[in-house]
Amino acid sequence: MAFTYEDLKKNHPCFAAGAKNNKGRVHLPVSYGCNIACNFCKRDINDTDNRPGVASGIITPQEAVDAVRRAVELCPDITVAGVAGPGDTLATPYALQTFRLIKQEFPHIIKCMSTNGLLLPEYADEIIDVGIDSLTVTVNAVDPEIQAQICEGIVYHGKRYTGIEAAKILIQNQLAGIKKVSQSGITIKVNTVLIPEINADHVVEVAKTVAQHGAKIYNIIPLIPQHKLSWCSTPGCDLISKVRSEAQAYINVFRHCQRCRADAAGIPGGKDISSSLYIRPVKLE
Ligand code: SF4
Ligand code: SF4
Repeated sequence: MAFTYEDLKKNHPCFAAGAKNNKGRVHLPVSYGCNIACNFCKRDINDTDNRPGVASGIITPQEAVDAVRRAVELCPDITVAGVAGPGDTLATPYALQTFRLIKQEFPHIIKCMSTNGLLLPEYADEIIDVGIDSLTVTVNAVDPEIQAQICEGIVYHGKRYTGIEAAKILIQNQLAGIKKVSQSGITIKVNTVLIPEINADHVVEVAKTVAQHGAKIYNIIPLIPQHKLSWCSTPGCDLISKVRSEAQAYINVFRHCQRCRADAAGIPGGKDISSSLYIRPVKLE
């Protein structure tokens, strides 16, 4: 059973148009590794930071199924199982393995996955086969000169690329992947991290380009200035509203993202059951 964009608006807590719809999601932190190096990324294992890229521990695909079982018992309003890191879902096989297991045991739960898109063209067929219902791709720029200021480099098929060369490969793969997956009917959401000093004037171009490639919904996430972008500023409300209005001319803009942890569970902005879930920290590779 595949969920359409209209189904997602009714049943996915993050797609509800306007007010929250009181549905819940459980994020399963099965993907630690990453194949690109975003300058703002500070992945961490801790119990306290309330932001993406953080989880209390990493779990195996089998433990993820246990976590979903327990999550739906604790919070029957959970309609979505998602993998949002803390690294990239396609850099290791664990996210797709997890979704295959979830599909068998919970055929009615929405399967939601986020990726940086580097490997999207080559995994598109598997994503379609696994039955992912909603795919988020983070695209921070469609101009390699701008992307190179946001992402230091990539590791692609065993080789390291940096600067503009890396940016060109990343952008090309993100857009080709979005096109391929969206043509199958899977709903694509694109996230862009808004960085006032780097991509604020470029976000509208990203919105237009990803819409042309088949993305349905667009989420502008204000930068948390950290790691190599700690010199940048936090976008103010005026800038966020301006950029959202510009993007809205091309694509539906999502306005209430909570910037959840990679092990968030419960109703976004409401009941939080993440600390009650069984999550066993394992040694990272
Ligand atoms: Fe961090 Fe995600 Fe960028 Fe990888 S893709 S470096 S996990 S922000
Ligand atoms: Fe929804 Fe944003 Fe949280 Fe993802 S990070 S589950 S889009 S509120």
